[in-house]
Amino acid sequence: MTVTKSSTKLLKNYINGQWVESNSSENLEVPNPATGEVLARVPISTNEDLNKAVKAADTAFQKWKHVPVPKRARIMFKFHYLLTQYHEALAKLVVHENGKAFNEAYGEIQRGIECVEFASGAPTHLMGETLSNIAEDIDSEMFRYPLGVVGGITPFNFPMMVPLWMFPLAIVCGNTFILKPSERTPILANRLAELLTEAGLPEGVFNVVHGAHDVVNGLLEHEDIKAISFVGSQPVAKYVYEKAALNGKRVQALSGAKNHHIVMPDADIEKTVQNVISSTFGSAGQRCMACSAVVVVGNNDQFVEELRKKADGLTIGNGLDDEVLLTPIIRDSHRQKVLGIIEKGIEEGADLIRDGRSEMSELTDGNFLGATIFDHVSPDMTIAKDEIFAPVLSILRAEDLNEGLDYLRKSRYGNGATLYTKNAHAIRQFREEADAGMLGINVGVPATMAFFPFSGWKDSFYGDLHVNGKDGINFYTRKKMITSRYDY
Ligand code: NAD
Repeated sequence: MTVTKSSTKLLKNYINGQWVESNSSENLEVPNPATGEVLARVPISTNEDLNKAVKAADTAFQKWKHVPVPKRARIMFKFHYLLTQYHEALAKLVVHENGKAFNEAYGEIQRGIECVEFASGAPTHLMGETLSNIAEDIDSEMFRYPLGVVGGITPFNFPMMVPLWMFPLAIVCGNTFILKPSERTPILANRLAELLTEAGLPEGVFNVVHGAHDVVNGLLEHEDIKAISFVGSQPVAKYVYEKAALNGKRVQALSGAKNHHIVMPDADIEKTVQNVISSTFGSAGQRCMACSAVVVVGNNDQFVEELRKKADGLTIGNGLDDEVLLTPIIRDSHRQKVLGIIEKGIEEGADLIRDGRSEMSELTDGNFLGATIFDHVSPDMTIAKDEIFAPVLSILRAEDLNEGLDYLRKSRYGNGATLYTKNAHAIRQFREEADAGMLGINVGVPATMAFFPFSGWKDSFYGDLHVNGKDGINFYTRKKMITSRYDY
C-alpha cells in the first residue's frame, strides 16, 4: 500500500553550498520499503541542474586545490566526529529509506566512518617519493595533484557506505565532488551534505544532484568532469565504464556479483549454517558481498537440512523491530522480477526446498519475500548464473573442491567467495585458485576495510584502481615528476 501525504517533501539538490530546487517537473516517490509510507519525493534533475553543479564544483576546485592538506584533513576529522555523534540517527534514516535491519544499518555507518578515518590520514597518504642522485647532481621527486571535478554515482543498497567510499578520499586529495545518489535512496545524501557543511567544508566542494539516467549521462559526457566512481548493477557498470573511458575520463565501475560459498565436509555445521544464513538473507540478500550460491562438497545432506531449518526460524519484518533479520526488497517492481526468476528455477528443474513466497501474504504493506532455497541447482541454470539480489539461495552439489572451484571459474562474476573448512591444504588451494577478488576463509561477508582496496574480478569490476586504500589515493590523484639538476 502506498500512503502519499500531500506535505511529502520534494528533495532539493545541494549546489555551491545552497539547497536548490531542480528545474525539472518530474519527480519520484521515495517509499519506505517496509511500510509503503512515502518519505519524500526525489527530483529527476536535468542537465541544466547538473551544469550548475559542475560550474560550482569547478570554481571551488580552483581554491580547494590550494588548501593545505592538513587543513583538508581537519575538516574530515570534524566530519568524522559528527558522524559518530549522529551514528544512531543516521542508521535509522538508512532503515527508513533502504529497509535493512537497524543493526545492519548501524554497521554500514560504522564502515562509512572507517572510510572517513582513512581519509583523515591524507597528509601521510599524499606524500610523494624522492630519490637523490639519480645521476650526478640530479634528483628526482614525485608529487601528487588532484584531478579536478569528479563524479560519484551510487546504488540503493548502501546509501551511506558507498558514497563514503568515494567523496572523503576524493575531497582530501584536493578534488571537488558531485554525488548522484540512487533515486531509490536519496535522503541520506542530503544529510551527508548538511554534516559536511557543519564540518566547515567550503561551498562547492561537495554537491548533490538527484536524478536518474540523464544526470548519469551528463556526468559521463561533461568535459569538466575528470573522473567517475560508479557502483551499481552489471549492465550499467559496463555502460558507465565504456562511456566514461570513451570520453577520456578516469573510471572505476564496481558491478554485480554472484558470490559462492564452498562448504567442505569437515566444516563446522552450526557455525557455517549461521554464517551462510546471515550472509544470504541479511539485508534481504541485497548486498554485493551476499552469499547467493552455496557449493556443498560431498554428500552433506545434514548441512542442507540444518540450513533449511534455520531459515524456517527467521523473523521477517520491519528493520526497526528487534530480532528481525529478513527485511524487505527495495521495490515491489524488483520483487516481481524475483518471483519470475523463482518460477524459472522451478521450470529449469531445481528443487525448491523452501518457498519464501508463502510469507508474502502475512506482511502485505512492505515488499517482503521469505527465505527461498533451491537445492540441486546445476551451474547452467539461470538461478546459478544470474545475480538475483534478493533472499534467494541456490545450492549446488560438488564432488570435491576442484569441482567447486570450477563453478567459480565459470561464473561471469568474481566479487567475493568463501570457503568453510579446517583443512590447511584446502584453504591454500582455495586462496590460490578461487577466481574472485575478495575471499573469506570461514567468514560469511569478507568485505575489506577502508585501508585495503575493495573490489572484485571479471564482470564484477570494470577499471584498474579499486576503491579505498592506496588504490583510492591513486585513483583520485595524478602524479607529477620533477627532475632537478643542481650543478648549473
Ligand atoms: P543500479 O545499476 O540500478 O543503479 C546504480 C546507479 O546507476 C543509480 O544511481 C542509478 O540511478 C544509475 N542507473 C541505473 N540505471 C541506469 C541507466 N540505465 N543509465 C544510467 N544510469 C543508471 O544498481 P542498484 O540496483 O541501485 O544497486 C544494486 C546493484 O549494485 C547490484 O547489482 C549490486 O551487486 C551492485 N553493487 C555492487 C557493489 C560492489 O562493490 N561491486 C556494491 C554495492 C552494490
